[in-house]
Amino acid sequence: MKWFISQETIRSPFKRILERDCGEKVSLCYQCGKCSAGCPIAFQMDYLPNQVMRMIQLGMEEHVLSSRTIWLCASCLTCSARCPREIDVAEIMDYLRRRAYRKGIIPLEETEIPLFNKIFLRNIELFGRLYEMGLIGMFNLLSGEFFKDISLAPKMFLKGKIGIFPKRPKHMKELRKIFKNSEKLGRVKRSRLLQPRLIFLNVFRKFIGKVERLK
Ligand code: SF4
Ligand code: SF4
Repeated sequence: MKWFISQETIRSPFKRILERDCGEKVSLCYQCGKCSAGCPIAFQMDYLPNQVMRMIQLGMEEHVLSSRTIWLCASCLTCSARCPREIDVAEIMDYLRRRAYRKGIIPLEETEIPLFNKIFLRNIELFGRLYEMGLIGMFNLLSGEFFKDISLAPKMFLKGKIGIFPKRPKHMKELRKIFKNSEKLGRVKRSRLLQPRLIFLNVFRKFIGKVERLK
């Protein structure tokens, strides 16, 4: 694929802002490709991790933030461990996800990933540990697939894998502190509520999928 990259894009402050907020020097990347060679999700990505690094160097914020790669990254840290320039690529992917979410840029193919992430974290924050019924119920409701995996629920319930009510751990105060401190460390106000746009995209995506199947 060939792109025309304008002078304006190359001079954009994107790389500088990322390096300042993330503390990672993307400029050091010399495109050896070791991060991409070790990435277990690379085969599904639209841009390989080393390509994302190059795009950041070139100031291509829109392309990077709208890529599927940043949402598919599993934060396994293989790339960070392999990088000869000691760039924490996984941390950069995480930063890009947060930036894309704040700007409301979510590729239609991957709308379920941020939805799941948000519900998962909010679930832990509220109940102190994973409350499976809450997670499944919220995810199904907001993703527009109301009855997804519903047939598995009785079996899992009978085997004690899920409970009807949440179990709260003893040290909720400490847990809340962890969430508060992570907010401070990230230097951003964490949005507790889901973006209406994200919910709309998920329901819209399900609708499109159903129309496609009817064709
Ligand atoms: S952290 Fe993400 S980009 Fe890096 S190797 Fe793992 S999946 Fe790939
Ligand atoms: S491993 Fe490091 S230096 Fe090599 S391409 Fe990836 S980010 Fe760049």
